[in-house]
Amino acid sequence: MKVYNTLSRKKEEFIPLKEGEVKMYVCGPTVYNFIHIGNARPMIVFDTVRRYFEYKGYDVNFVSNFTDVDDKIIRKANEEGVTAEEISKRYIEECKKDMDGMNIEPATKNPLATEEIGGMIEMIRTLIEKGYAYEKNGTVYYRTRKFKDYGKLSHKNLDDLQSGGRALLVTGEDEKEDPLDFVLWKPKKEGEPAWQSPWGEGRPGWHIECSEMSKKYLGEQIDIHAGGEDLIFPHHENEIAQSEAANGKEFARYWMHNGFLNIDNRKMSKSLGNFFTVREISEKYDLQVLRFFMLSAHYRSPLNFSAELMEAAKSGLERIVNSASNLKFLVQNSSAEKMTEEENRMFEETSEYVKDFERAMDDDFNTADAIAAIFDLVKYINTHTDENSSKEYLEKLHKRLSDLADVLGVIVDKDEEILDEDIEALIRERQDARKEKNFARADQIRDELLSKGIILEDTREGVKWRRA
Ligand code: AMP
Ligand code: ZN
Repeated sequence: MKVYNTLSRKKEEFIPLKEGEVKMYVCGPTVYNFIHIGNARPMIVFDTVRRYFEYKGYDVNFVSNFTDVDDKIIRKANEEGVTAEEISKRYIEECKKDMDGMNIEPATKNPLATEEIGGMIEMIRTLIEKGYAYEKNGTVYYRTRKFKDYGKLSHKNLDDLQSGGRALLVTGEDEKEDPLDFVLWKPKKEGEPAWQSPWGEGRPGWHIECSEMSKKYLGEQIDIHAGGEDLIFPHHENEIAQSEAANGKEFARYWMHNGFLNIDNRKMSKSLGNFFTVREISEKYDLQVLRFFMLSAHYRSPLNFSAELMEAAKSGLERIVNSASNLKFLVQNSSAEKMTEEENRMFEETSEYVKDFERAMDDDFNTADAIAAIFDLVKYINTHTDENSSKEYLEKLHKRLSDLADVLGVIVDKDEEILDEDIEALIRERQDARKEKNFARADQIRDELLSKGIILEDTREGVKWRRA
């Protein structure tokens, strides 16, 4: 299995630190608003990476944080006249609802920065002891030049950074030893949340948060660290500097980064007005469509969001879901139980599509090609099944299709989601069938509803139904 590693800028064979296990950390969102569809891309992409490892039999320990202390959260809290905690709690809840809609598997752990301050202070203390950090007037800085490997992830050269760095000096940071040094701890400002520390009241810098939470929940060395490509520099470069200096060992073996999501071929931004939250999209589409759309491109390529591409994703998804529900329908109406020899041969033939799917996913998670393999399977199913097919054959095909779709987090069985109005329409059709003495059709409708968990009761007042 090959994974593109930003560190080496190559696809490398994936070798886990411990056989059969994957330790994975994904930088999560800063929670000051509803998440936007750009934030949804790493969530969907790395959830799919996780699902594929699980499909391959790995035990995945998946940690993803919520950044719940940050300037933007504090600004929003001040605007609304509430606490920063109220803002972050609110948007973590909303984010979890969106993630559920996108069928993101819950993480093994979602640590919150504000609950891990003690560990961050310890890590900063270690860095000071080892000479990698120093304090000036309540601010603690990282001594960037002391870390010899600085720049190895972003492939930046310290001297190039130095010339750009001078211009980037922010007021109040002129006490730094070197313009390249970055903040580990900042002193309290009026109206901001703050914690006690050996350097006075204050709060941690952003980068130290992930170094500490990754260490606490996954250990000093992990297999994969991931996030959007904007995080390569400085966030991930700084995380490496902190973790490797403090722990004295390589931090993450593989660094994975998703490309950016643009809208109508332009960078998504509030000022351009081309900015969508996941919630807004959910008003128009099932979030499964958004998920399918995101996976239609390779995760490292830029992806353009447009109404046209969403419509294409919608119809692609429908093809898969319809094929699966057609199989279910045939199963209910099939009289033959066991597979025939011919069916056995046909089922074997479809293993080619599974191989294509795995080949695509083994090649740095090429979901676009993996989807193409699913479409090939769907086409085969649609042309090699009918009312004479055996139950066993149909069920095996259904399992094969849903297992592959499940790796992509695509739900093929919409059974539970049958709408009240659809149930009532079927009940009316059943009544009509009975009036026409077409009892076979009437029974068929009752069984179809039953297979979807809908129970019918014929009472004197008419037909009543309930969900099982
Ligand atoms: P933030 O809340 O800005 O820290 O972002 C959370 C995650 O979303 C990070 O992994 C970012 O790299 C990622 N991200 C933000 N905007 C986009 C975008 N337009 N396309 C893809 N990923 C994004
Ligand atoms: Zn991070």
